[in-house]
Amino acid sequence: MALIVQKYGGTSVGSIERIEAVAEKVQQYRDRGHRLVVVVSAMSGETDRLLGLARQISERPVPRELDVLLSTGEQVTIALLSMALEKRGVPARSYTGSQVHILTDNVHNKARIREIDARKVRADLEAGRVVVVAGFQGVDEEGNITTLGRGGSDTTAVALAAALGADECQIFTDVDGVYTTDPRVVPEARRLDRITFEEMLEMASLGSKVLQIRAVEFAGKYNVPLRVLSSFEEGEGTLITYEEEEMENPLISGIAFNRDEAQITVLGVPDQPGIAAKLLGPVADANIEIDMIVQNVAPDGKTTDFTFTVNRTDYEKTLEILQDVARALGASEVSGDNRIVKISLVGVGMRSHAGIAATMFRALAEEGINIRMISTSEIKISVVVDEKYLELGVRALHEAFHLDQSGD
Ligand code: ADP
Ligand code: ASP
Ligand code: MG
Repeated sequence: MALIVQKYGGTSVGSIERIEAVAEKVQQYRDRGHRLVVVVSAMSGETDRLLGLARQISERPVPRELDVLLSTGEQVTIALLSMALEKRGVPARSYTGSQVHILTDNVHNKARIREIDARKVRADLEAGRVVVVAGFQGVDEEGNITTLGRGGSDTTAVALAAALGADECQIFTDVDGVYTTDPRVVPEARRLDRITFEEMLEMASLGSKVLQIRAVEFAGKYNVPLRVLSSFEEGEGTLITYEEEEMENPLISGIAFNRDEAQITVLGVPDQPGIAAKLLGPVADANIEIDMIVQNVAPDGKTTDFTFTVNRTDYEKTLEILQDVARALGASEVSGDNRIVKISLVGVGMRSHAGIAATMFRALAEEGINIRMISTSEIKISVVVDEKYLELGVRALHEAFHLDQSGD
């Protein structure tokens, strides 16, 4: 008999029929003797609909009130699922984030979980109930409702699993596991039986939205066994594991991509010590995260050019800040492009192999795709290319590294 935390995403609870199907699945697990905590998202499209309503009132709604609004989506699904369970004779109780004391910091719209007081959940489990918890939401020390950022229900589930010492955290979604790349872009993508935490974290941070980054961080930190599987069909899904357990790792495990990128270039900056800090400091001060950075010194050695990337939502604001800074520093030009994307190869096997970058660049060149920026780390290589080449680039790389074929 195991204690399992299950999370069902938006599509999995997207209609009354789907909610009934989830209730049936939960009942089957319970009939096998397992104790269950179920975390649910809002019905698919609901969070976007609520965001749309808020935007009709204001371009930048007050973050506190936006959280009050967005958290309602999940309150609907916990009630409906609990009703569907009770109808089947399964005792169930629904709780919002604040009711089960999911305590977060006070950063509205992207709060971090600090602590969970799991006593109430434990008491219900002891009493033989299925506990249904609203994903994506918590409460700060002052009692304000907070939300955890898009895709945050994954993190609620993993954090609950950690707090309860659950045997497994199962993320049920509309795909039957983690694939070599998004199967919506490459139909030949292959499901992975296993992927390491390190690789999954890298994939999530580089744009694969199948799991929220913080959920993977949490699972790695607290040793939560994590599995991604389909709510629509039976199967083993993908287990997120520790590297030590693997005998031999494939060279490349997957390809991630991020469409939310924008590139900014500042030309002719006088080259002096401390210039990078002067230029980029004001951007960081505005809470804008800078990703890849490239600096080139002009042949005369007197000026330097900077190119870097930011999130697309921060593009206009970054340009605005830099126009002023660049003028003050005597730079010659600020320009940008918000129609770029980042494509990344991820694999722990890369550590011990040379030549991956060369194969990657050749595959892109053969398709006539120009690389604008490159960055590497031990287990990833990322390139920035024009937005129009995203699908072509990902497919070409998937083929060049034979990711459609099993490595074993
Ligand atoms: P949920 O609503 O259940 O949380 P999401 O839409 O957040 O579901 O995540 C599932 C989606 O993630 C899939 O439909 C798929 O298109 C996308 N995805 C992106 N990269 C991958 C990948 N490497 N493997 C599997 N799915 C991926
Ligand atoms: N409903 C929230 C969202 O759409 C949280 C989640 O689904 O994980 O982002
Ligand atoms: Mg999700």
